Parts: sequence; structure tokens; C-alpha cells
Amino acid sequence: MDSRARRIGENEILFREVNVQLRALDARLGVANVDSHAFLCECGNIDCRERIRLGVDDYERIHADPAQFAIVPGHERPSVEYVVERHDDYAVVRKREEGPADLARDHAPG
Ligand SMILES: [Zn+2]
Repeated sequence: MDSRARRIGENEILFREVNVQLRALDARLGVANVDSHAFLCECGNIDCRERIRLGVDDYERIHADPAQFAIVPGHERPSVEYVVERHDDYAVVRKREEGPADLARDHAPG
């Protein structure tokens, strides 16, 4: 895999790990039963600070496949990933190449 694809993949993994921590914090604060959460966009742009409002059930479902990430619609990078779901508030991408997809799986949440 080239260095750009790796960097994008690593950025996405970083944002996903922050979101996993957000969820864990919810549980510790006793607000685990919230219906939705303002998660960080998990796109490959390290400077992206946009948020997506995502149902907790949807969040868990999306990340059941570790090669998938939740992003702001339009933040996808077609060279390294493809859109598998498109909603009003968010889109779901899956890593395209074996290298970044494997990297994402190696860093699966949970
Ligand atoms: Zn983004």
C-alpha cells in the first residue's frame, strides 16, 4: 500500500478510536442509554473537525465491520474507499484496498 493510503487509513482509525472513547465515556457518566451522539467524522483528513449525529445502534452496526467508517457525506476518498451507505446526516465507507482494509481490521474497535 502506498504511504498516502496508509496515512488516510491511520487517520480514520484514530478518529474511530476517539469515537469509541466517547462511547465509553458515556457509559462511565451513566448516559449510555442516549439514542444518538455527535461522533467525530471518521474521514481520512486529520484536520477534519466535523461531527455526525449518529444513532448509537447505527454506530455499533457500522463498526461491526472494522473496515467500515462513518463520515460526513462527501468526505469519502474514492481512491481508497467506497460508499456503502448514504444517509442525510452521514455516509458509511468501506476500505477498498487490501492493505488499508487489513490495517483497519487490525485496529478493530473493542
Ligand atoms: Zn471529515
